[in-house]
Amino acid sequence: AESRVVNFGPGPSALPLPVLEEAAKGLINFQGTGIGIAEISHRSKEFSAYLDGVESQIREQLGVPPTHSILFLQGGGTGQFSAVVLNMLARHRLLHPELEDSERVMDYVLTGSWSKAAAQEAGRLAGGARVNIAVDARTLSSGGKSFDRIPPHEAYAFSKDPALIYYCENETVSGVQFSNDESAPESFPFHLLPQDTLLPLVGDYSSSFMSRPIPRLADHAIIYAGAQKNLGPAGLTIAIVRQDCIVDVDAAAKLGAVPVPTTLAYKTFADQKSMPNTPPVFALYVTGLVLKRNSELGGVAYYEALNRRKQEKVYKVLREGEAKGLLKGHVRQGSGSWMNIVFVVLGDGAEALFLAGAEERGLKGLKGHRSVGGIRISLYNAVTEEETDRVVEYIREFINQPP
Ligand code: PMP
Repeated sequence: AESRVVNFGPGPSALPLPVLEEAAKGLINFQGTGIGIAEISHRSKEFSAYLDGVESQIREQLGVPPTHSILFLQGGGTGQFSAVVLNMLARHRLLHPELEDSERVMDYVLTGSWSKAAAQEAGRLAGGARVNIAVDARTLSSGGKSFDRIPPHEAYAFSKDPALIYYCENETVSGVQFSNDESAPESFPFHLLPQDTLLPLVGDYSSSFMSRPIPRLADHAIIYAGAQKNLGPAGLTIAIVRQDCIVDVDAAAKLGAVPVPTTLAYKTFADQKSMPNTPPVFALYVTGLVLKRNSELGGVAYYEALNRRKQEKVYKVLREGEAKGLLKGHVRQGSGSWMNIVFVVLGDGAEALFLAGAEERGLKGLKGHRSVGGIRISLYNAVTEEETDRVVEYIREFINQPP
């Protein structure tokens, strides 16, 4: 444990040390069964009970209403780029069998590279349906190319009866996140959506899940997240799906919808308690340990307060660096993510020096994504306030004595 560094990696990312220590024991002997967690049958009563516990922890901590099911899937966020399209087009087919394919529309809100990737996948799987870009935040940036903001509400153009409305709540690469304050101009424009109690709203929460409460969770058709940022190891994908979106994809296929692979159909998982096949047992195990710890600490309310303080400290020193002309944030004020803070270090070779100095101090994982460059500080739940203070202190030192 003493050999561990501070890990600001974007994902997979830091996990709480006490959880890792507990998980190490579970790898050898899961709950006194004498069998390790990676070895025990997923159909054993011990594992089934454990899985029930993971589900109820998520339900309780996020306040998931009984209208929504919690599904444990594989294939990551990328798998969901496909699954949401296939399941929601099947649903639209069952609701409106009379429509021509060209009359089916999927609305995508583009605020960064992940929502862009999701929209591309929708294009691949759309069949005859259309992808409508409800807004492309790049067009609002000064060069017309950069994802550097959450669009103002007047920029959105939603369709009338779309099969789905897609957004990515936190763009991990660009460092852009919707505000969780519904009165802020950078909040998601719920009031502009079609008036529908069964709104087909899909939110990618891959990099902010469990970091704070989800605004209007109950109004969503689907919320999904890979576990590998705030919750546990990669391999587990969590989807919260409103029951009217868990559809009979075979009945839809009979009406002309694209057939849906068994492992991508929500109904397969909903009907079989998320175990139509072998689930990612180890990832579920660690996720359960993290959730238990979360609940002891005070749940998402605790993390919201903690994460608010962490990001405030980092943005504060970033603003100080900007005032000195040494740093430059990638994202406009108000649109900055709490989880991934992206900026550049100005000056020839300054960035390399910044990173080398950070390495020396045991502050790792700070290099920005190859597509954006610069520095990215990821502040997921397991990054402590003390660790955040260490990177803030380092940045302050750096801007006060530039190389
Ligand atoms: N969406 C977001 C917001 C992400 O950050 C990521 C991964 N970093 C993905 C989707 C893709 O997830 P995965 O790697 O689990 O397929």
